[in-house]
Amino acid sequence: MYKKFYPDYKFNKVLDIPDSFFLKNDIKFAVLDIDNTLVPYTSPLPDENARLFLKRLDDLGISFIFVSNNHEERVRLFCDKLDGNIDFIFDARKPFVYKIKHAMRRLGADKTNTVFIGDQVFTDVYAANRAGILSVMVNPIEAKETPFFGAKRAMERVVLKNYKAKEWKE
Ligand SMILES: [Mg+2]
Repeated sequence: MYKKFYPDYKFNKVLDIPDSFFLKNDIKFAVLDIDNTLVPYTSPLPDENARLFLKRLDDLGISFIFVSNNHEERVRLFCDKLDGNIDFIFDARKPFVYKIKHAMRRLGADKTNTVFIGDQVFTDVYAANRAGILSVMVNPIEAKETPFFGAKRAMERVVLKNYKAKEWKE
């Protein structure tokens, strides 16, 4: 009943996703959430971990785009501080799927070679599943969140109660 909310894979954090995951799944493109996936919600700028992860994608020849529900100023500032011309979509309104499809068209990606990585069940995972692409969930970086997010996380726990994370085998 809740399967549409189940991520294909779950990792603790983005840096825990091994190169083999991308290689064996034939991933050429990545659609990425920013807040609490790459950096804490409260970090306006990319930090060392985010840079390391993005460099790894780059080294693997994976093109990526950010698709965030956050507003333009936040997303643009984050991307401006990264090297290169990084494409992004703000106000994405996930779990609506059209901006993810739009992002995939911009990348030249298709369903078979694209991964989505995000930290939220009802926006990220649900949207990625609806788009028909591989969905990866990471644990939110920031433990301390607002009461609204706390309630959302409680709902996520209910929905994922019977979810058994597929283990990635090298
Ligand atoms: Mg997020």
